[in-house]
Amino acid sequence: MKEISCKLLVIGAGPGGYVCAIRAGQLGIDTVIVEAGKPGGTCLNVGCIPSKALIHAAEEFEAVSHMAGGSSPLGISVAAPVLDLSETVAWKDGIVSRLTSGVAGLLKKAKVKTVYGWATFRDGKTVAVETETGTQIIRAETVVIATGSASVELPFLPFGGPVISSTEALALGEVPKKLAVVGGGYIGLELGMAFAKMGAAVTVVEALPRVLAQYDAELTRPVVKRLTQLGVEVMTGAKAKGIKGDALLVETSDGKSAKIAADKILVTVGRKPVTEGWGLDQIDLDMAGKFIKIDDQCRTSMRGIYAIGDVTGEPMLAHRAMAQGEMVAEIVAGHKRSWDKRSIPAVCFTDPELVTAGLTPEEAKALGEIKIGQFPFAANGRAMTKLGEDGFVRVVARADNHLVLGIQAVGQGVSELAAAFGLALEMGARLEDLAGTIHAHPTQGEGFQEAALKALGHALHI
Ligand code: FAD
Repeated sequence: MKEISCKLLVIGAGPGGYVCAIRAGQLGIDTVIVEAGKPGGTCLNVGCIPSKALIHAAEEFEAVSHMAGGSSPLGISVAAPVLDLSETVAWKDGIVSRLTSGVAGLLKKAKVKTVYGWATFRDGKTVAVETETGTQIIRAETVVIATGSASVELPFLPFGGPVISSTEALALGEVPKKLAVVGGGYIGLELGMAFAKMGAAVTVVEALPRVLAQYDAELTRPVVKRLTQLGVEVMTGAKAKGIKGDALLVETSDGKSAKIAADKILVTVGRKPVTEGWGLDQIDLDMAGKFIKIDDQCRTSMRGIYAIGDVTGEPMLAHRAMAQGEMVAEIVAGHKRSWDKRSIPAVCFTDPELVTAGLTPEEAKALGEIKIGQFPFAANGRAMTKLGEDGFVRVVARADNHLVLGIQAVGQGVSELAAAFGLALEMGARLEDLAGTIHAHPTQGEGFQEAALKALGHALHI
């Protein structure tokens, strides 16, 4: 049995863990990272990047199909396109492979030792890793748990055969003719819309009264409209009950039983933290529900053990995990660091896209009097030239001093506005700062400026 010691041990090389290890290496900390799968974790291998690749391919296919149908207003017509999903998946795999080997290279450059295998705690400072060549014992002064999350499985719809998680959905060899999606959250709708664009007949089954229920109804309206345009059947207030033959069994909102014929049943009912199988019971950390409890600097209840990323709670987002990872490395190096959770933007890559940062109007109202400015993309020249007039930007600010509290947008390509939204909140911008920033013309960003002007009572283009 081999034994090594280090100053910092990171368990899990997803975006939280690998960023933490790279930053620690850059700061001269003797660091080891353990990964059971491939560097990049969920995000690079089976999450953010592969899903966005598939979504992009689906968008392109749908755009060309539209032109082939002779209904494009752009004056372009083409022959009917053909989609070979296995080639699309191979292209996606190429991107994943470039990125994961890039991460392995960055870890090496930062002089971080990577050990491949499953890590299990022996005690608070020691883990055993089952590698291909035997058990490796690693002792560390400080440990960072970054074990991430996994798809939630429904006991009456276990994964296997036609029942798939997002991981299998990203690796299908052909487009299912009929796809049932259980769960109308962001992962289900991003993938469901992509498969609908690729030609699948998609039915979404959602137990809540609305899809994307974490957003307000006004924000999701353009997405719901687009689902209808794409022919996606959305059953809300409906509960999946099981599978019989090639059909998903559903209890509809009025209590009736329904059968939905499906070649594949994609279950996207949430993600759960990976807190089993690595010896959590050996170290007895305090929990916050199913997540590891942390303070504002990602310290757990045990001295010298930090936790970051999805295993620590919502929002389960790659950039949150990365921000925590970078901060923890700097804290371990002795720097004074903190982070502002309020400015984490969240993007939903549906069609159209949604971006939110900071407080919702409802949350802001609960704190006091507010001003809201909303600007529609129907009045934005750039959006018109992209056939993307559906949607808007909304800015929420305090009524007394105009401090911006929250920003939301829905529209084609608005994910690219997320950086500006995050920056505005991080820097404590006021409505006057947004209104006074000269935005390039013609861009959708002008909608952001106009929303602030609207809140101040003098929008120029509406
Ligand atoms: P993970 O990325 O889950 O990585 C954890 C790593 O730890 C894994 O590689 C695992 O193998 C390893 N591990 C676990 N236990 C052990 C152990 N005992 N020993 C060794 N290794 C171990 N987020 C966004 O911000 N934007 C998006 O667009 C987005 N799209 C998504 C799409 C899909 C389909 C999915 C599933 C997720 C998406 N996410 C997105 C969420 C994002 O992937 C996660 O928030 C992010 O990956 C969390 O990072 P992490 O470092 O906490 O954990």
